[in-house]
Amino acid sequence: MTSTTFEALPLAAPIQRVLRDLNYSTPSPIQAQAIPILLEGRDLLGCAQTGTGKTASFALPILQAIHERPKQMRSRKCRALVLAPTRELAGQVGKSFTTYGKHIDFSQTLVYGGVGQVPQVNAMKRGVDVLVATPGRLIDLIEQRHIDLSQVEFFVLDEVDRMLDMGFLRDVKKIVSMLPAKRQSLFFSATLANNIVELARTILKDPVQVSIQPETTTAENIEQQICFLDRQSKRPLLEQLLQGQKDAEHQKLTIVFSRTKHGANKLAKSLNSSGFSADAIHGNKSQAQREKALAKFKRGETPVLVATDVAARGVDVKDVGLVVNFDLPNEPEAYVHRIGRTARAGAEGRAVSFCSADELEYLREIEKTIRMPIPKWDDHNWHIESLAVSHLQGKSKSGGGQKRRQGGGGRSRGGSRGGNGGGSRSGGGGGSRSGSGGGASRGRRFSKSK
Ligand code: AMP
Repeated sequence: MTSTTFEALPLAAPIQRVLRDLNYSTPSPIQAQAIPILLEGRDLLGCAQTGTGKTASFALPILQAIHERPKQMRSRKCRALVLAPTRELAGQVGKSFTTYGKHIDFSQTLVYGGVGQVPQVNAMKRGVDVLVATPGRLIDLIEQRHIDLSQVEFFVLDEVDRMLDMGFLRDVKKIVSMLPAKRQSLFFSATLANNIVELARTILKDPVQVSIQPETTTAENIEQQICFLDRQSKRPLLEQLLQGQKDAEHQKLTIVFSRTKHGANKLAKSLNSSGFSADAIHGNKSQAQREKALAKFKRGETPVLVATDVAARGVDVKDVGLVVNFDLPNEPEAYVHRIGRTARAGAEGRAVSFCSADELEYLREIEKTIRMPIPKWDDHNWHIESLAVSHLQGKSKSGGGQKRRQGGGGRSRGGSRGGNGGGSRSGGGGGSRSGSGGGASRGRRFSKSK
């Protein structure tokens, strides 16, 4: 927690005004550290996860520069380029620019795969201040000469760890090679593994490094529980949890994580036939389907969303009260991201994870990563104590030999072009307010607003 206030930061009046509108009282640690550095024009290497307020930490200084030095953009060009790994994250970033830039005259657009390119090409014909893009489609449009990066002044690489996991390294390098040498570069990653630092070194010039928190920290206001049970008991226990949600006075939303796309589909379908209104989002769904499912979820029309890891990135829905890990993730960091979908905007949340015999190894990896044991929840009909004991004794029924597979499950791999890109709608000018409202993702990182 920091004691700095937004008023103490040298941010322009229209930005201060929007922060007041949003009831943001205190900058999050990444904002307090990064904003002054970025306003000075320095490059930044930021180690921060989603949920730390990192989007505002780069969006506010960029918007300020656009406000202070307005420019008539030329066709196909942009001043700020933000690269994001998934269409969901790109959509979220675009929405944040719209929100934070409400009182600023600027234009932006999104470029992502999985949808027709014509509206994106048309938007770029006029040139834009801010372009938020996923790598594959961006390269496609550059190669077709619909986008020209020669005027980029600000380059932001968001969630670089994901970008590399998804196989976008070559695309990223290619994009960087097309940028002008004189630019301000910002690089954000939840982890700073060697390959990431290596890449940062090739992109950033004399960067200031800001590390917000270890990749492994889980929010304190999330009640975490682990259930030891048989694979076939997962369904009935899930139903019991969902029934509890349904019966609560104010029904909160639930995200259920499945490791595979097929599993997500199957689960959503069978929950529906058991009377729980559920939808699935994953990488195989079209952009329109995903947006529709998310909108219905946000409105509470389908209070249960079954998701794979990649589809849930960037999903920032305030009223998620429960996250269920129907399958444990095979990458321990994904656990932190998954449970971070609840307890957003300073609210309380609960994350219940199911662990069957074949997943003990995953659980061990997760607990090693978050450096704490997840409290056991055995007050249900399907608890298997022997599994809990095996876990405590460090035995894994899977023989302990399961390798951590990179990019398994719901993640789409292979830095493909076009199709895998993605974002959200092609956003118009700076004025359209998306009204994402205030709210921090994890309570302890932000002080409550007035
Ligand atoms: P991000 O890490 O950028 O995805 O931000 C996570 C959430 O925190 C978003 O819902 C933002 O609207 C919210 N947020 C960002 N900065 C602040 C702040 N200083 N005070 C309160 N909420 C914030």
